[in-house]
Amino acid sequence: MSAENNKLGELVSLLKRRGFVFPGSDIYGGLSGTWDWGHLGVLLKERIKNEWHKMFVREREDMVTLDAALIMNAEVWKASGHVEGFSDPLVACEKCKRRFRADQIIPTLGVGIGPHCPECGGPLSEPRQFNMMFETRIGAAEDSSSVAYLRPETAQGIFVNFKNTLDAYHPKLPFGIAQIGKAFRNEITPRDFLFRAREFEQMEIEYFVRPKEWEEHFERWRMLLHGWVARIGIPESAVHEVEVPDGERAHYSRRTIDFEYDFPFGRKELYGLAYRGDYDLAQHSERSGVDLSYSDEVTGERFIPHVIEPSLGLDRTALAVLASAYAEDELGATVAGGASEKRTVLRLPPALAPISAAVFPLLKNKPELVARAREIYRALVPALPAVMFDDNGNIGKRYRRQDEIGTPWCITVDFDTLADGTVTLRDRDSGVQTRIPAEEIVAAIQTSL
Ligand code: ATP
Repeated sequence: MSAENNKLGELVSLLKRRGFVFPGSDIYGGLSGTWDWGHLGVLLKERIKNEWHKMFVREREDMVTLDAALIMNAEVWKASGHVEGFSDPLVACEKCKRRFRADQIIPTLGVGIGPHCPECGGPLSEPRQFNMMFETRIGAAEDSSSVAYLRPETAQGIFVNFKNTLDAYHPKLPFGIAQIGKAFRNEITPRDFLFRAREFEQMEIEYFVRPKEWEEHFERWRMLLHGWVARIGIPESAVHEVEVPDGERAHYSRRTIDFEYDFPFGRKELYGLAYRGDYDLAQHSERSGVDLSYSDEVTGERFIPHVIEPSLGLDRTALAVLASAYAEDELGATVAGGASEKRTVLRLPPALAPISAAVFPLLKNKPELVARAREIYRALVPALPAVMFDDNGNIGKRYRRQDEIGTPWCITVDFDTLADGTVTLRDRDSGVQTRIPAEEIVAAIQTSL
């Protein structure tokens, strides 16, 4: 097993053991392509979503947000082209019956080698198009009129609310609508942990612009995505732009840049930045019969805006953030307090850490220490995103446990605290402890959040 695969294995097991991510339907042997998020994983995802929301909605004046329904009228998916074209080429092995995405396995077979099953070497069927939308039924009727789809992307919820948004807020171009929510794709081969799941979350923006200005906005969003990646602690050197050539882009796109990340299992797509032209609004205008054009007050022009779409997968973001943060290192003897110590640590940016600070009484069996530590803990709860109290085990073990889940700050209450009101504040990355007055904890931590 390669070191990188080994790293993924270590990370997956850490995330399960410490309650970030569990296999879906675990006690029934799992359900391929689904994952359940535990307490710490939920907190991590919340922090990522919050940063995204801050950067792309709250810190700007040209963005609004939306939370559209997951099940949409089937007409939406006919108009968007998904019923017709949202498919991957499927091949099946005639011997072992396993199924594969043709585009994923055939390029790896090499020139001159016939298409054979990568598992058993058996002959493969001709590729056929497999639609990845999950179908369901609405209401009690069982004819074709009751068919509905779980959304395979959040984007269409935004397009069908374009007019509602114009009518409600009267935004001026350029402006964007941002949405976070679940998407569902019946992937032929879900794999690589959170990377390719059948149920996942997206953070998408549709940014509406004047047609002739699309290139400058595309360029701005390209830069903003680099800014985002840096903000969430993913090293710039691990991110690579790939211009998607003609013929390989999605049916709606006139230009796409994939942002790829060096995942432990290889360089793969993290995000997509697409220029969708007026494809979606024009299609929906035509199919629904509702005018989705924009009227420019200044020039008097009426036209269908064009769209730049930065599309971010939340699960892939979490995986890239965790893989970037995961480290095994050794704290020197001076900071470890005795022999140097090996540890596993998640060097998450403090703004993303599921727990911002943990408070410990030095000893569990000294009621006066426990009471003071609880007081400090209660004072921190309203001031910081998430605080934890832990009095279990020796202090070194408690530090190691917090390192493993990426807690940037640990606060220890000892006998000096009772005497002079100071606590020790320990920094996760260096292991260095400093003594500060208890009233200064919030200020010291908040600067990093
Ligand atoms: P891929 O080529 O990897 O299947 P895609 O190009 O079809 O991805 P998009 O349709 O551009 O993906 O989706 C936008 C974003 O949603 C992706 O960049 C990714 O972050 C996320 N995403 C897409 N499919 C999945 C999935 N099956 N599991 C997790 N995240 C996904």
